[in-house]
Amino acid sequence: MTMMRNIFLLLLPMCASALEVGLPTANHALYSPSGEGQFYQGTAGHDWRSGQYGSVRSGGRQFHEGIDIRCLERDRRGEPTDRVVAVADGEVVYVARVAGQSNYGRYLLVRHNWDGVEVFSLYSHLGGFAPGLRAGQPVKRGDWIAVLGYSGTQKIPKERAHLHFEICFQLNRNFAAWFAPKLAKGDRNDHGNFNGINLLGIDPAALFLTAREKPALNFREYMESQPVAFTALFPARRAPLSFMRAQPWCIVNGPEPAPVTAYEVWFMAVGVPAFVRPRTDVTTAAPRVLSVNEPAVNACPARRMVERDAKRRGWQFTKRGAELMEMLD
Ligand SMILES: [Zn+2]
Repeated sequence: MTMMRNIFLLLLPMCASALEVGLPTANHALYSPSGEGQFYQGTAGHDWRSGQYGSVRSGGRQFHEGIDIRCLERDRRGEPTDRVVAVADGEVVYVARVAGQSNYGRYLLVRHNWDGVEVFSLYSHLGGFAPGLRAGQPVKRGDWIAVLGYSGTQKIPKERAHLHFEICFQLNRNFAAWFAPKLAKGDRNDHGNFNGINLLGIDPAALFLTAREKPALNFREYMESQPVAFTALFPARRAPLSFMRAQPWCIVNGPEPAPVTAYEVWFMAVGVPAFVRPRTDVTTAAPRVLSVNEPAVNACPARRMVERDAKRRGWQFTKRGAELMEMLD
């Protein structure tokens, strides 16, 4: 599968600007040769690799959707004091102040607009927030927003205090309404559209390192450089419209003169929909797998979205993949 780079170059807006991002704490060991052990906080009994993004937990079967950044500073009582700062200019859009309402613990999201791309940075397990911090507040890169901590519904020992950090997309802008009837009796969605189920992350460390290596890089170019793991066909009436509205950049080939009969969506292995191509020559009754780049899919075993069908002739969505297709609205 190709990246179809030429098509994108035609569509790049004149205003595309270099991605200006910085790390969320003073721990910058990611940029040092062999600094990973100082940068990542591993899980109990495991080394720094388990703090990376990806299929890094439970022998590769469990997916970690962000990176865990080690604490550098503590007060006399051993409480973490590292300041957490915004990684890029944006707007604070959500502040979850109650530690016990999510396995993120206390967390917050900043929304960024990178060349028209709506992207969120997520900071979690926080110890507290910068004074006066509230949703709706504009922030600049490097602004103090929170304090690193160890809050969460699953107990994190103080010694393993860390910042769980994500760069993510919101999958469905009407998530809260979609999710409400699916909640088990007695369960609640305390976080509306900013529930973690509705946020799907890319590897923040890879983004930070690439942006440092290529200072002129813009975000769309970065997304174009990511391998497409599989493509799926959506009926025109079931287009992932809220995603497309948030990401107008993702539509390739532009509006067609003929009526659109289906949408071809290109996915990264973890399920992030990266680009959408309107089709006028094909129809489908329900979302279905169109093509698979097997090595790219196999590179992410803990979040498999597609699998061989029973006769091993074609491909189908896994249960997780089918749920994702349903959620993308
Ligand atoms: Zn984590």
